[in-house]
Amino acid sequence: MTVQSADLIALEQQLGANNYKPLDVVLSRGQGVWVWDVEGRRYLDGLAAYSAINQGHCHPRIAAAMIEQMGKLTLTSRAFRNDQLALFYRDIAELTGSHRVLPMNSGAEAVETAIKAVRKWGYEVKGVPAGQAEIIVCADNFHGRTLAVVGFSSDPESRGGFGPFAPGFRMVPFGDADALEKAITPNTVAFLVEPIQGEAGVIIPPAGYLKRARELCTQHGVTLIFDEIQTGLGRTGKLLAEEHEGVEADVTLVGKALSGGFYPVSAVLSNSEVLGVLKPGQHGSTFGGNPLACAVARAALRVLVEEGMIENAAIQGERLLQGLRAIRSNIVRDVRGRGLMTAVELAPEAGGARGYCEALKTRGVLVKETHEHTIRVSPPLVIKPEEIDWLVEQFDAVLSSGN
Ligand SMILES: *Cc1c(COP(=O)(O)O)cnc(C)c1O
Repeated sequence: MTVQSADLIALEQQLGANNYKPLDVVLSRGQGVWVWDVEGRRYLDGLAAYSAINQGHCHPRIAAAMIEQMGKLTLTSRAFRNDQLALFYRDIAELTGSHRVLPMNSGAEAVETAIKAVRKWGYEVKGVPAGQAEIIVCADNFHGRTLAVVGFSSDPESRGGFGPFAPGFRMVPFGDADALEKAITPNTVAFLVEPIQGEAGVIIPPAGYLKRARELCTQHGVTLIFDEIQTGLGRTGKLLAEEHEGVEADVTLVGKALSGGFYPVSAVLSNSEVLGVLKPGQHGSTFGGNPLACAVARAALRVLVEEGMIENAAIQGERLLQGLRAIRSNIVRDVRGRGLMTAVELAPEAGGARGYCEALKTRGVLVKETHEHTIRVSPPLVIKPEEIDWLVEQFDAVLSSGN
């Protein structure tokens, strides 16, 4: 019996928690930038699992590394050592220039880990009075879905009904360095920020913002944490988005593409003494740093670099931006992006981005609205120029005036 999309969708509706509103396309296969649904229709993946599939679907070298490791050893817990962990530390430290690494699984866990570590650092190193540590975050941030994290979200959808929340967070507008400066107190232990706000709709801060944030943090003894879970690992045309302004965070969070979409792997990368405050028994995760995750992550990093994906993101991102900007449309309000992290913001009169995502789906392009009016376009970094051109044609067909 062949199972059709409609049956699977009905089953999902009946049995699942309805915490997502996916497009009605049921995928069963993927390769590179392409995915196929259960009926065999082919689509270009213009979302790449929110940038977790930077290396393209089912990258053969990552798959091979995973299969090889699966036949040897998958999980030891951190009660014992495994022969992949040290090599993962070495590889990612060499690549990013970090001095300490703490492996976790999901992105939200990496964020939670960083929050715990900087608070402890605040008390033990900076000398903040017990229980008084403050962390500055930005309005419209997205750092995941755990309780502490949604507690400092400004999105009513993310936090509504889930309180009470953890105290100790202060919010400033994104992109406003003066507001950051005003919010810093002697009890500020960290400033947590996305170099480009992804979920908010690919919001790029004014030039010089990250640099100024770096200076303010250095000046006031505040740990600068960049959440590069979405912007990192090649997405913006650099290994880390911080490189666009030539700054270095004290703590960098990576996840998503760290496994090329094969497995949840995240990490806290630390350039200062922050991770040094954690002592045995004070933090952990059963699956964090397991040999399978480490082998997969090592392969995912290797292909990203060796196959020129980061450079390709810069080149194809520019081509995509030019192409989308050339579309003559009276419903497009803004096209913005860096590397292959791109967004098309529609005017409110367009009546929401969702309908356009549906229309693109019928033309073989899968993209997703973020908030009401913005379509994010973030295909795998292995995309070719002719595929960019085809993608732009489909956007043109759906958005252009006079069609
Ligand atoms: C996706 C994302 C997270 C959360 O990652 P999960 O793996 O979904 O927990 C955190 N921060 C940013 C910037 C993200 O894009």
